[in-house]
Amino acid sequence: MSFASLGLSAPILQAIAEQGYETPSPIQAKAIPAILEGKDVMAAAQTGTGKTAGFTLPILERLSQGQRTQSNQVRALVLTPTRELAAQVGDSVATYGRHLPLRSTVVFGGVKINPQMMKLRRGADVLVATPGRLLDLYNQNAVKFNQLEVLVLDEADRMLDMGFIHDIRKILAILPAKRQNLLFSATFSDDIRKLAKGLVHNPVEISV
Ligand code: AMP
Repeated sequence: MSFASLGLSAPILQAIAEQGYETPSPIQAKAIPAILEGKDVMAAAQTGTGKTAGFTLPILERLSQGQRTQSNQVRALVLTPTRELAAQVGDSVATYGRHLPLRSTVVFGGVKINPQMMKLRRGADVLVATPGRLLDLYNQNAVKFNQLEVLVLDEADRMLDMGFIHDIRKILAILPAKRQNLLFSATFSDDIRKLAKGLVHNPVEISV
């Protein structure tokens, strides 16, 4: 099994090779083809399984084929429970996308909002965000979702544990209905299944 056989193109394969990755991890082998096909995905995966590349690589591939982002627009939104995870996912997006002409941005709370508003003016192909700050930016018209194609909830169980369910529901309500949904969670509790019910459609279910 190689990354090339999963359907990723040269600029992404080059970035992967530069990271020293030789073979896809089990979650990557399952998630990457499903996401490239445009399917919704529900994946049970702990940190350390390579889940971040599992959703980032196919999203970058998909975005590299479409129209560039316009001002304040976002094409792929990744929600994370903490600023640390947001920063980490943002670094992965930047690394794997380094040979692609895509813009990515990370926003989280606890820091000034103005620089984030400035960064979003030119739009973001990939925006990694914590829920509360994303809503603040939306309420200030700094971010728009007319071009949104993909939504990722990363570490969804932690988001629920941290009380983000209301923010998540508010965010879901402002996104275009036609989009690809990817739900990653370490565990699948009843609460996560309830959230998934209103979120993913005919999902490919993956557990590793
Ligand atoms: P994650 O589970 O997404 O937090 O990733 C865990 C670690 O595995 C990260 O440090 C990645 O750089 C690394 N990694 C991800 N995919 C691969 C791969 N296919 N081969 C080797 N290392 C990988």
